[in-house]
Amino acid sequence: MTQETKPVRVRFAPSPTGYLHVGGARTAIYNYLFAKATGGTFYLRIEDTDRKRYNEDALKDLLRDLEWLALNWDEGPYFQSERLEIYGKEAQKLIDSGNAYYCFCTEERLQTLEHGYDRHCRELPPEAAKQKVETGEKFVIRFKSPLDGSTKFNDLLRGNIETPNKDLDDLVILKRDKFPTYHLASVVDDHYMQTSHVLRGDEWISSTPKHVLLYKALGWEAPLFCHLPVILAPGGGKLSKRKGAASVGDFRDLGYLPHALVNFLSLLGWSPGDDREVMELKEMIEAFSLERIQPKAVAFDEKKLEWMNGMHIRLLPNSYFTEELKKLYPNEQSEKFLKVAELLKPRLKFTNELPALSNYFFERPQKIVDEKAKAKYWTEQSPEHIALLANELEKIEIFNIQNIEAAFMKVCESSGIKLGMLAQPARLAVSGVGAGPGLWEILECLGKEECIFRLRCVN
Ligand code: GLU
Repeated sequence: MTQETKPVRVRFAPSPTGYLHVGGARTAIYNYLFAKATGGTFYLRIEDTDRKRYNEDALKDLLRDLEWLALNWDEGPYFQSERLEIYGKEAQKLIDSGNAYYCFCTEERLQTLEHGYDRHCRELPPEAAKQKVETGEKFVIRFKSPLDGSTKFNDLLRGNIETPNKDLDDLVILKRDKFPTYHLASVVDDHYMQTSHVLRGDEWISSTPKHVLLYKALGWEAPLFCHLPVILAPGGGKLSKRKGAASVGDFRDLGYLPHALVNFLSLLGWSPGDDREVMELKEMIEAFSLERIQPKAVAFDEKKLEWMNGMHIRLLPNSYFTEELKKLYPNEQSEKFLKVAELLKPRLKFTNELPALSNYFFERPQKIVDEKAKAKYWTEQSPEHIALLANELEKIEIFNIQNIEAAFMKVCESSGIKLGMLAQPARLAVSGVGAGPGLWEILECLGKEECIFRLRCVN
């Protein structure tokens, strides 16, 4: 079986050293979508071999964030820290086959070197090296990188990439603490875990020739590689916390829906091939293919994410909102929840706006909080107009939109004012704020008595 015909097995392999960046989340999403689109397997591997940078909270957050995004993995998580024996064996094999060597250079010596490692221990006779190891001298194991020739691999997005071997260091594969470096662990795991495709951020592209050499030295076939385009901050440069929200946790805290974030991130570098943008997960899976990923850097546009979030809010079932409203106002009648949900759903940009935007449907506003709107629309005559309106509303038998509108028109005509000069003060009087759903709808939802009560509180 060639790599191209093997069953798809892909992984997300984060290092638990910090928060889950949106770039990492996008990598996870592409691996997930690719696995689902091809009937393959998506597994999670925790690359926790850098003990200095390991952070237990980061691991917890990472798992929580992936679950929140609903990127359910089929296997794992596998922890590299539990597989040290395997890496040790492979490092030993590389020593035995002459593809790696013990290096006894001290930190102090390494610090004096200017251009990477000078291969000082490379020519040490194996017997002498073995003796040093047996006497307990500290060592690392380094890969014996070929000194000439070049290493090629085919990146699925960028085509052939060739690196002169003289540019590659004799990289450390096993550290003093017997933990593997990222390079060895990644290659060994991708082999034994039968990874068919490595989809990862393009900051790893310079590591790939080193990995290709390791595969060769171990006698293994390398997986296929696909390095994903970099995500840039809106004004250029790397996306970072300093420039605003950058982690999945940040966007969750801001009130984004996980589906909206997944949808938005999926489009950073990929497109379904038509002009669809707002997609449910199922649609994304159906449309996904590696061919439609493009290698060019992409900018992160938070305005677009905001828009996308609103679009996904509209796709939520009404029951989502009625449940949330029930939690907010446990003593209220449930028929009202559905009406309020229908009115607010088209207006929400974030689900966490629900308490503020729904409040006046359930609680009488204490005062007009929207000072700006008040300054603009409230006049000395407003209380008088509102009193007339209350009287007119009182006459209504069937309190529906049509009759409410007619009552407004009647007051406007009899007092010779424009609708805005009645409707805006009335809105302020019943809701306390100057913007929201249609006024007739709000009044209908509040009910006749409540409206009249609120209007008559104005003086
Ligand atoms: N542990 C690496 C990371 O944190 C994984 C890179 C790879 O996918 O090979 O991104």
